[in-house]
Amino acid sequence: MTTVNNKLTPKAAFTQFTHLWYIVAMQIKSKTLIAGAIFTLIALTAMQGYLIFNTYDLRKNNFAVESRMTIGSIVQNPYVDSISWAYRTEFVDKIPEYRKGQINKKALIQTLKNAAKESNNGFLDYFKEGAEHFGLHENVLFKRSASLILFTYENGETETILAENEDPDLFLLGTDFPVDEGYLINAWNWSFDKGFTNASGHLETVVITYRASLYMKIIDWDSIMLKKLLLLLFVAFLLFVFIITLVTYSIRNLLKIKRISEIKTDFINNITHELKTPLATLSIATKTLTNKYAKDDKAISDEAIATINRQNKRLQNLIDQVVDNSLGYNHINLQLEPVLLSEFIDEVCDDFSLTLPQRIQLLRVLEPSDTPILIDKFFISTAIINILNNAVKFEGTVIKVELKTIEAYSVITISDNGIGISKKNKKLIFDKFYRLSEKNKHDYKGLGLGLYYCSQIIKAHHGIIDVESKEKQGSTFFLKIPTNHGKENLTG
Ligand code: ADP
Repeated sequence: MTTVNNKLTPKAAFTQFTHLWYIVAMQIKSKTLIAGAIFTLIALTAMQGYLIFNTYDLRKNNFAVESRMTIGSIVQNPYVDSISWAYRTEFVDKIPEYRKGQINKKALIQTLKNAAKESNNGFLDYFKEGAEHFGLHENVLFKRSASLILFTYENGETETILAENEDPDLFLLGTDFPVDEGYLINAWNWSFDKGFTNASGHLETVVITYRASLYMKIIDWDSIMLKKLLLLLFVAFLLFVFIITLVTYSIRNLLKIKRISEIKTDFINNITHELKTPLATLSIATKTLTNKYAKDDKAISDEAIATINRQNKRLQNLIDQVVDNSLGYNHINLQLEPVLLSEFIDEVCDDFSLTLPQRIQLLRVLEPSDTPILIDKFFISTAIINILNNAVKFEGTVIKVELKTIEAYSVITISDNGIGISKKNKKLIFDKFYRLSEKNKHDYKGLGLGLYYCSQIIKAHHGIIDVESKEKQGSTFFLKIPTNHGKENLTG
């Protein structure tokens, strides 16, 4: 049944060439569209990411500025001034002892540390209250420290008590943390003098230069920012999912439309191809009949009439095939009757084997049916014959028909050792008008309706159709019909 069409007229070759060119152009166009859509998606995602990142940065800066201002409002206050005044005074009062050599530099600094430490508990309570009042985030820490203490004596000499950038800063109030983990809020120099009587009984004045700094540290930035940006992130995520869905949907739709358009073009090509032969034969036969010699020769005119009838029938068959095989399962009107499947399939195989050339073997392994099931004999035999015809058409030489009952289904299995079906095509073969891939389309005749029709027939019987196949090894089709099919109609 294989028709090899290897001789092309120039006109047919040109038509094939333009058709091929059209397909290539369509493919390039849709590939460009898909690439464009993917590129836009990536660009949009990158832009969204950039905007989120910028917003994150902006909000972070805003938060830091707001926190800084709030801390300012809390600590610029007479109470805090009085605390710092108190520890500074304690420190300054120790300077005469230091100058007289009664305590060393370390002990002098320790005095400041201790004095500040004593006031810190009270300060922390005050700060906490202030933070609650001004709405400062609980993750914001504050510290006041001294980074430089210089003494300038009357003779112009200076002595560094605390060296800026060399000695660690001297923690005074708040919560201690390394300065490089925080932000500097403010720093100022503070200078005053202290007069006292020194060891030699003279009045001496020391000028004290003191540099105080305010620092702020924010712990667990990410969780603060995440909470602040939650709504934005959520909306961005929803938009992202929406865009992805939209693009995926559009691409899938595009591919589907492209496939449908290809399938329709193929179908038109196929049907034109199928119509050509009978039409050409009809034309020759009609010409023969109109020829005056043929008119006189009864044998020739009878032969021509027979040819016309045959071709007419062929054309009618083609049209019937298109009309009938295009029916959807809900338009198939089943005439159900109880049938013993094994006997029925045996008969179908008997009839089919009559049409088979000798080189093709038809094997049967039919489990005898003991209970009849309700099927439409005409439609089920059409489905089986369609699959058997395909097995022959696609180069099967050993065809096997099996029948088994598996769970609630009677399973008819039809396998062949033909050209097989690629994994990609397996999903498509039950689609309306689907035919084999471009490469060998013209080697095998057909309209791409047979398997679609089979699937609709099986679906109308509430069954399942399936295929297993390996390229170059063969295909196996499974028709699964529920054993209780239609029984409810009879009983109910
Ligand atoms: P047609 O046979 O007219 O092309 P069908 O709907 O019967 O249409 O089959 C659709 C496609 O499925 C075929 O074009 C072919 O690619 C594939 N196919 C069907 N049966 C077989 C088979 N037994 N072996 C290999 N390929 C098959």
